[in-house]
Amino acid sequence: MVTQGTGYRDRMNIAIDGPAGAGKSTVARMVANRLQFIYVDTGAMYRAVTWYMLNQGVSSESPELVLQLAQNMTIELKPHEQGQMVLVNGEDVTPFIRSHQVSAAVSQYARIEGLRTKLVRLQQEMALGKGVVMDGRDIGTTVLPDAEVKIFMTATVKERALRRFNELRDEGITLEQLERDIAQRDRLDQEREVSPLRCAEDAIVLDTTHMDINQVVDAILSYCET
Ligand code: C5P
Repeated sequence: MVTQGTGYRDRMNIAIDGPAGAGKSTVARMVANRLQFIYVDTGAMYRAVTWYMLNQGVSSESPELVLQLAQNMTIELKPHEQGQMVLVNGEDVTPFIRSHQVSAAVSQYARIEGLRTKLVRLQQEMALGKGVVMDGRDIGTTVLPDAEVKIFMTATVKERALRRFNELRDEGITLEQLERDIAQRDRLDQEREVSPLRCAEDAIVLDTTHMDINQVVDAILSYCET
């Protein structure tokens, strides 16, 4: 089993894709820790843009306006004890980007082509030096098509809703609502024209419905060794 990753760091990127709530970010963070890689949560970048646009009152129905505003917007990801901090124009927005409001709107903004171009470029720059674990929807297909290890993590809608429900217990949202939201987000992410959620042909598919987090992490680490 891999515990120290220094030998891997300079020659490997790991792409982890999959639908909402499959546990990608928890797993990606743990894999990154074990290998001493940098973790990049690309969903957090789309969420940060969404939070900013909602805050500025700019609707996803006005893509030109979104792009105009996005041009002068900086997004930074910084490692943090509890994961990753997200800064927009220097302001820490980490506590706001996982709200129900942002989750419900993010797929609408993520469909905007020019916005994806900007974020994909940023993500590719982050991975240039290798040693990155990146999770998202289009990492293995579009952002890092040459990643050395590609994982597509999934689980049933019911199981994914249950996992989110356990995370969000205090927000007063019902399991049924979460199931509907997740199914809707899957649909939007899979059906959009630009970089839809799709399993790369050379990705390893991991159905995590009946796996716990440590089993998933160990499985991914074992793929890095081969
Ligand atoms: O991973 P997370 O659920 O935080 O992602 C939020 C949303 O951001 C996704 O539902 C999707 O619409 C968008 N996204 C994307 N491409 C990525 C990562 C996230 O379109 N690489």
